Amino acid sequence: MLEEILPQQGRLLVVSGPSGVGKDTVLERLLDPAQRPPNLVRCVTATTRPPRAGETYAVDYYFFSREEFEARIAENFFLEYAPYGERLYGTPRDFVERERARNNDVILKIEVQGALMVKQAMPEAILIFLAPPSWEELERRLRARQTDDEEAIQRRLQTARRELETAPRYDYLVVNDDLERAVETLRQIILAERCRIVHGDAHVPPPPA
Ligand code: ADP
Ligand code: 5GP
Repeated sequence: MLEEILPQQGRLLVVSGPSGVGKDTVLERLLDPAQRPPNLVRCVTATTRPPRAGETYAVDYYFFSREEFEARIAENFFLEYAPYGERLYGTPRDFVERERARNNDVILKIEVQGALMVKQAMPEAILIFLAPPSWEELERRLRARQTDDEEAIQRRLQTARRELETAPRYDYLVVNDDLERAVETLRQIILAERCRIVHGDAHVPPPPA
């Protein structure tokens, strides 16, 4: 009853935020099979960067050579793609469309240029910006991760300043101060969005007689 006033396909949720803010940590917790909201799937994206220690093909990323990646751009394989540092990153269009058609909500973890491209192509996409509680804490987390040298950390912090400037174009701001709280907030945003009524001509009630 009344299902017709809800979207007829799964939602597209896009999570961005500066490197080191905790995107992977938060999403891993959200998607933990023990507590994952039903009908929520994460989209594995593609990159030209090499795998880091412990990363697996098709689980963390599709790792493509630049030639493979460029060939797929030409085939319209990507819903969006963007450079980040020296590398290219892109979202496979097929997966997103197939899962949404099955009424699954798709979660994408992509950087800000890609997120804004998605919003332009699909205005119904829900953009969520994950922000650190402070610059000091962001810097601390980047160091704690122990994946970068000092120069790379400084570069990431500079990029983070530019990324934060795009936050006003997002739909939601979630501060990742306490991990459990941030995961819970994200879960609640998803649950609330699942109740959002689609407003369009099809659903405008007839004028009073
Ligand atoms: P991103 O995916 O955004 O680059 P990560 O998930 O790799 O960030 O997190 C960066 C570091 O911050 C990791 O060491 C992670 O354990 C830590 N971290 C993530 N969320 C929190 C939090 N809420 N409080 C403290 N540390 C956190
Ligand atoms: P990393 O190399 O640290 O895994 O990712 C670098 C950045 O690329 C992160 O901000 C990540 O969210 C983003 N990213 C990952 N996949 C995609 C994608 O498919 N498209 C875009 N635009 N960004 C992506």
